[in-house]
Amino acid sequence: MITKLLRKVFRREKPAAAPAAPPGPAVIAVEQHGVARDKITPGARHVCEKLQAAGFKAYVVGGAVRDLIAGLTPKDFDVATDATPEEVLLHFRRARMIGRRFRIVHVMQGRETIEVSTFRASNDAETDEHGRILRDNVFGNQAEDASRRDFTVNALYYDPGTETVIDYHHGVADLQQKTLRMIGEPRRRYREDPIRMLRAVRLGTKLGLTLDSDARAPIREMAQLLENVPAARLFDEMLKLLTCGDAWRCLRHLREEGLHHGLLPLLDVILEQPLGERFVTLALARTDRRVREGKTVSPGFLFATLLWHEVLANWEARRARDEANIPALFEAMSEVLDQQAEKLAISKRIAADIREIWVLQARFDMRSGKRPYRMLEQARFRAALDFLELRAESGELGQELADWWREFADADGAAREAMLIADSAPKKRRRRRRKPAGGDVDATAAPEADQPSAD
Ligand code: ATP
Ligand code: MG
Repeated sequence: MITKLLRKVFRREKPAAAPAAPPGPAVIAVEQHGVARDKITPGARHVCEKLQAAGFKAYVVGGAVRDLIAGLTPKDFDVATDATPEEVLLHFRRARMIGRRFRIVHVMQGRETIEVSTFRASNDAETDEHGRILRDNVFGNQAEDASRRDFTVNALYYDPGTETVIDYHHGVADLQQKTLRMIGEPRRRYREDPIRMLRAVRLGTKLGLTLDSDARAPIREMAQLLENVPAARLFDEMLKLLTCGDAWRCLRHLREEGLHHGLLPLLDVILEQPLGERFVTLALARTDRRVREGKTVSPGFLFATLLWHEVLANWEARRARDEANIPALFEAMSEVLDQQAEKLAISKRIAADIREIWVLQARFDMRSGKRPYRMLEQARFRAALDFLELRAESGELGQELADWWREFADADGAAREAMLIADSAPKKRRRRRRKPAGGDVDATAAPEADQPSAD
């Protein structure tokens, strides 16, 4: 009863002047697409089976199907269904509704979380004055759901029961021919959501697909539309791009397409300095390696590397003006992060991580007395040491310092004592300052220095 009522309330009426429906979908057999059902995780299979048994349509959809056909391991599994979120909730014990803009259900199955979304349409979505979609949480049928997706290779529906792929837009053929093709008219689709330009670069690079010329041509002139995208969304997409396992090639492709301006506002400058370029290249290669080995990547570390040479230049300029070492570093960090935050919102938590890694760099010079021991106790010491090693490898500073710290960190008590370097500098009178709140970073820090950057 309730479910019937809900279905009636939430089901969208077809618009009077619906665009011509695409021809029926192709149903592609396993012999052609090559994905057997055992490639689908047990959780995702269970969700599809249970919804289908209750009379609904339910398919694995999107990136997972695309990646499996391309021979890659999917990051996660999403399911699309004609059941409303409320109906989905009724069928799973461990499930919760998330999202205000799009109501999606997260179903927990063992250690897996499967994202279940109801078929949506976007024909009559609300847009802003640039044509950007503001709201498209309108339920629709499967064909409409396929049409609102971005690329043909992302609009594939896999049925674990029959091992078939429902393909409305020739996505399987495009994937096999290594083409990334936009569904619908590319200019309109980029206007609706400029993030699709970044997705085009990321997915093309990650999957080794060539962006179809119709989808590629308008990017250069439409790139500035990215300025209208909320900074937090831009940050999420940049993070995806930087952690996709192919970051360096993605950034190069972004530059080739003219998309890099304003994304990482400082990256342009950095890549023009030989040392900066070398450092960023090494950092991204390290990130790619970690992603491919299935290790975690810390966004704080990543952004700390991308912005480091800007901080360094700013810090050095301040020291040249006789500003004190540590306060000058704090000022430089704030200036760089604030500048960055105008375009790309770095969350407070990540900004705090970035600062900590940077601040510890200034303390690696102190190799006498108790200070090296205090350094080892810092929560982010290992990350800071990895960072120091990258600096050495890029030629920014001598290898000796990085080697000393690695050895000191791994040595036992007696060996550590023997490594300490005698403090030859005349003792300065130390002026104690209050520790900044929230972080054991440096007692000499300026009081405002630990404030998180703009959000
Ligand atoms: P990955 O998970 O590898 O980042 P993905 O394609 O799965 O790639 P998600 O963000 O998980 O990306 O999106 C899931 C699906 O939702 C996509 O495959 C696509 O069908 C659709 N989608 C995502 N973002 C957009 C968008 N900006 N415009 C249209 N459809 C989108
Ligand atoms: Mg995905």
